[in-house]
Amino acid sequence: MDAGSFPAVTDTRSTTTRNWAGNVVFSAGRLHRPGTVEQLQDLVAGSDRIRALGTGHSFSPVADTTGDLVSVAGLPPRVVVDGALATVTAGMAYVAVTRALHAAGRALPNLGSLPHISVAGACATGTHGSGDANGVLATAVSAVELVTADGSLRTVRRGDPDFPGAAVSVGALGVVAAVTLDTVAAFDIAQWVMLDIPFHGFDALPELLAEGYSVSAFTHWEREVFDQVWLKRRMPADPPEPFWMGGVPATGPRHMTRGEPTGHCTDQLGRPGPWHERLPHFRAGFTPSSGAELQSEYLVPRDRAVAALRAVRAVAARIAPVLLVSEVRSVAADDLWLSAAYGRDSVAVHFTWVPDAAAVAPAVTAVEAALDPFDARPHWGKVFTTPPQRLRELLPRLPAFAELARAADPTGKFGNAMLDRCLPA
Ligand SMILES: Cc1cc2nc3c(=O)[nH]c(=O)nc-3n(C[C@H](O)[C@H](O)[C@H](O)COP(=O)(O)OP(=O)(O)OC[C@H]3O[C@@H](n4cnc5c(N)ncnc54)[C@H](O)[C@@H]3O)c2cc1C
Repeated sequence: MDAGSFPAVTDTRSTTTRNWAGNVVFSAGRLHRPGTVEQLQDLVAGSDRIRALGTGHSFSPVADTTGDLVSVAGLPPRVVVDGALATVTAGMAYVAVTRALHAAGRALPNLGSLPHISVAGACATGTHGSGDANGVLATAVSAVELVTADGSLRTVRRGDPDFPGAAVSVGALGVVAAVTLDTVAAFDIAQWVMLDIPFHGFDALPELLAEGYSVSAFTHWEREVFDQVWLKRRMPADPPEPFWMGGVPATGPRHMTRGEPTGHCTDQLGRPGPWHERLPHFRAGFTPSSGAELQSEYLVPRDRAVAALRAVRAVAARIAPVLLVSEVRSVAADDLWLSAAYGRDSVAVHFTWVPDAAAVAPAVTAVEAALDPFDARPHWGKVFTTPPQRLRELLPRLPAFAELARAADPTGKFGNAMLDRCLPA
């Protein structure tokens, strides 16, 4: 079937040809939105070059292609709960998936800061939340149903040899149509924001990150403090002590970015609420920001995180002028080949930059130089310049993934310039 017969957005000037932040202009000529899995299969089989687009929230050109883009957001949305497993349509945003799970008394163990991103897109890039015991969101994946290069449907399950490559796949193995997720019983969380927690050389970082189910520490690298620490504790839980870690409790709601409306953020002040309304930083009902930002993020081994943060502190003067806010989180080790937490408990050091790529570039260089001695692995969905050779050293299973991708897609229809650069030949 002719790929062009499907509903397509062909206006290359429209916002659909840019990512959310607007810093990536997609090279694709068309954006397809098939309404059924069969249409998706025909489309993929009939294309020479095609790549899946999620909700377009990545800051790197990871979703780009010189062929066509395809969104699976038009597939019928389904959340089918079967005991502890839930099979969901891949293009659904977490907002919708989590509401349906909660209604069924189930929960996902963890979520990222923004619930508006698609499940497939988040898993494909190793997106994560925080928590010493919480892995990247793809660690909840137990099976992936994907449309392969010849248009056939294939399900890769945990335990299959290819599964560690398929759960975080940067779109290189095919177009994911559905994902089966492990769920847990629904639970409640309370969130507190603590202010002005002194760095003290980051000596207490491990203790700080262990103080909640999910902990996010924000700084502007201007003063020797975490300006805010968002402490998310599973209920029942005690509130933090009044001078917890040397800080003071916020007495009203906060946004982590200066000047942004606090109403966009999930409920704070220790009020308990359902997991899906507390684990993300941003509320389901609000657009979190205009997209006027860039982001970079690097994961370092947790046992070297104190030294890594000291190294970032040493280049603070180069970071602060182009920074909106920085966030430090904790991520548990996993066995997913392309995950930045592969094989090691990690601390993620994140930077939200001003939306000016030229001004930000020297700061990214400074951060990468500071963190490189700590074997910092970049987030696939964010801005980074880590050389391909270094990526191969940092991700020991990258060659295995490249082999898997070549076997799944011999003509390279799912490839793009970023993957050509990053994956070993
Ligand atoms: C405001 C904001 C907050 C963020 N917060 C966090 C955070 O807390 N933690 C974190 O780790 N990251 C965070 N991110 C980054 C974000 O989670 C990732 O960039 C994620 O990949 C975005 O998902 P998406 O659906 O927009 O994917 P896209 O950007 O559209 O695509 C990303 C990749 O997924 C692939 N893909 C998408 N759909 C499919 C499919 N159906 N089949 C196969 N491959 C597919 C694409 O080909 C591409 O390679 C944030 C980003 C923004 C803008």
